[in-house]
Amino acid sequence: MTTVFIISAPSGSGKSTLVEQLMRQVPRLRFSVSYTTRQPRGKEADGVDYFFVSREEFEARIVKDEFLEYAEVFGNYYGTHVSDLDRAGREGVDLVLDIDVQGARQLRQKLKTRIPGPVSIFILAPSRQILEERLRARNQDSEPVIQRRLNEAAEEIRNYPEYDYVLVNREVAASVDTLVSIVKATRNRRDRMDAEVRRILETFGNG
Ligand code: 5GP
Repeated sequence: MTTVFIISAPSGSGKSTLVEQLMRQVPRLRFSVSYTTRQPRGKEADGVDYFFVSREEFEARIVKDEFLEYAEVFGNYYGTHVSDLDRAGREGVDLVLDIDVQGARQLRQKLKTRIPGPVSIFILAPSRQILEERLRARNQDSEPVIQRRLNEAAEEIRNYPEYDYVLVNREVAASVDTLVSIVKATRNRRDRMDAEVRRILETFGNG
């Protein structure tokens, strides 16, 4: 039974590092590699961080209804391929989606009758100042882009009530522990345990 873990965070909140460590520490989790029309950054590789495609290709895939959800973020398309969920189900793993607030909304709507439902986690930095320091430290964006990301962060954070869990990323190790705990606790939710409990009950026979 596959649980979809939706993880959203404003840019610079430390989400990538946390998700990377979560994947390393917890077995039977698969990271969903999204499609995007943005250009690769730094050491990003096609098929590993994203599937990098042209706008034309992305739009053709929209028409063919290939995305479980998609959104336009900072002028580029991002989307989760519909086959990811089926594949995770076949492989018996849980799926981790690093998607934005709009995508999270679409997915909750789409998966609302599914059992188990998706579990969503919102990650944020402890303050605007710390977010600004982190954005500068990663040396990736120009000054106008940093200012835009800071303004957009406030907007994104206001959506936190839509999420099941909220994680303030003060310190990496502690935040990873919290993420791991959320995944482990979810795996023991009653709706995920039904089949196993039934099997245990069968060992008692009819009496
Ligand atoms: P970045 O360009 O920094 O890798 O990602 C920008 C934003 O796009 C992040 O908020 C990230 O969560 C979001 N994003 C990445 N993949 C997807 C996706 O498949 N769907 C949606 N809706 N958002 C995505």
